[in-house]
Amino acid sequence: MDFAPLTHDPVVDVNRAEELDRDLVVIPDGGVGLVPNVGVIGGSHSVLVVETGLGPRNAERLLTFATEYARGRRLYLTTTHFHPEHAFGAQVFAGAATYLVNRAQAEDLAGRGPGYLEMFRGLGAPVARALDGVELVAPDVVYAEHHDLDLGGRVVRLRATGRAHSRGDQVVLVPDAGVLFTGDLVEAGQFSIFPWFPPHDVDVSGLGWIEVMHRLIATDPRVVVPGHGAVAGPGVLADVRDYLELLLDETWARRDSAMSEETIAAEVEALMVQRHPEWTGRDWISRGVGCFCAEHG
Ligand SMILES: [Zn+2]
Repeated sequence: MDFAPLTHDPVVDVNRAEELDRDLVVIPDGGVGLVPNVGVIGGSHSVLVVETGLGPRNAERLLTFATEYARGRRLYLTTTHFHPEHAFGAQVFAGAATYLVNRAQAEDLAGRGPGYLEMFRGLGAPVARALDGVELVAPDVVYAEHHDLDLGGRVVRLRATGRAHSRGDQVVLVPDAGVLFTGDLVEAGQFSIFPWFPPHDVDVSGLGWIEVMHRLIATDPRVVVPGHGAVAGPGVLADVRDYLELLLDETWARRDSAMSEETIAAEVEALMVQRHPEWTGRDWISRGVGCFCAEHG
């Protein structure tokens, strides 16, 4: 798959940790590729970690941070979806934290995880190094579609969204703080990542994703922690919805006039870059076009 090889180490830097709300910390990605935004959410008796970072070394740094932060409170781990930089460090938390996810995500991890491990090992030496020693472990607790996790005086809502960026996307909402962790359903300052790799992986659904964005907007959060990019206000949800809807409209309008997918991709990419010249990840636009072409009714 045609990614440019990564030349930097994708390190979760716990020194960047910042408090977003009372007993709620984000470790921002620092603009570093293949590093997710990580959350640490505390209650009176338990602490929830959201995302592991890429591979065991990142997860070890995070577990050390979370253990110090928790000061004896019980640890939980969850991940927004199975992609390697979000979930491929979970093995490190075994025995120290209870790992819980939605069922569709657990199925993604079991079915797609090994293939993604191989694919990501091909993304350059730093990524292969980070993934050295990865073992894909099954979650301790699997819920169907929603789970309310009581951390003590704070209930966190874990919600499976249905198929969008992956089959098993999950969001994490902290209602008392108005904070929503979206994983890769939302990126700030970047074009939406469509992991559309036919014939290997065609799980992403642009149509499903648009529906999910409408539902996330309705949760009316105060703060949005995207999968990658800067922590933002709720406006970033509308930005993503608008982008996806425009991508759909522009793709289908051309598909209706029987244009080839290649021509559609070239025209739509030029249009989207013009609309969002400051966004990164331009390679994902044509994959989004491919996905919407396949979903053309
Ligand atoms: Zn992802």
